[in-house]
Amino acid sequence: MIKCVLIDIDNTVLDFNLSAKEAMKIVFNEYEIQFYEEMFGVFTGINDGLWIEVENGRMTKDELFKVRWNTILNAMNINLDGETFEQKFLKALEVCAVPMKFAEEILEYLSSRYILCAATNAPHEQQLLRLERSGLIKYFDHIFTSGKLGATKPSREFFEECFKALDGVSADESIMIGDSITADIVGGINYGITTCWYNYRNAPAPEGITPDYIIGTLDEIKNIL
Ligand SMILES: [Mg+2]
Repeated sequence: MIKCVLIDIDNTVLDFNLSAKEAMKIVFNEYEIQFYEEMFGVFTGINDGLWIEVENGRMTKDELFKVRWNTILNAMNINLDGETFEQKFLKALEVCAVPMKFAEEILEYLSSRYILCAATNAPHEQQLLRLERSGLIKYFDHIFTSGKLGATKPSREFFEECFKALDGVSADESIMIGDSITADIVGGINYGITTCWYNYRNAPAPEGITPDYIIGTLDEIKNIL
């Protein structure tokens, strides 16, 4: 029987893409550089690739924050210091927290029935601020961030640290819900947790990885839990 729900934050509860686009506009505006829609595509292409490197253990988060904006600005032919840009971007991101569709409704539903935990690869303070600003923080019993735990999904260490705090709850009494196959689903499967892939992009199911459940919208969680 499921007692505990672990749920990813970015692009599961909060719309990271919309939040990141808002943050980019804020920082570009600060530098008085015109923002074009296609710049966001450059950001997501490079950012997604770098996070896969982190998930696979080929790069640390600190390294990502060092190289991310230097790489993106280079690709845009903009001559600015990427590390300074990164600081401004992370700061701007704190004020940009747009919930995904049905997020509030589903968190309220889950919080009254299960131990509800955020499980996210992100700096701790940043994620706390964003959850506060979105008004969603009140639904969570625990906020597990890679920043606080010192380990990232999909590693075993990340989930080990979560269950240390979840005294008396076992992996087979838990479900991991998230949009990322590489971080959320692979991490959950490897740790023996039931998994639910939030496939809002309607992407083809990956070969060799079988989530227990697949949903296209968050309100479908009510059919499972
Ligand atoms: Mg995510």
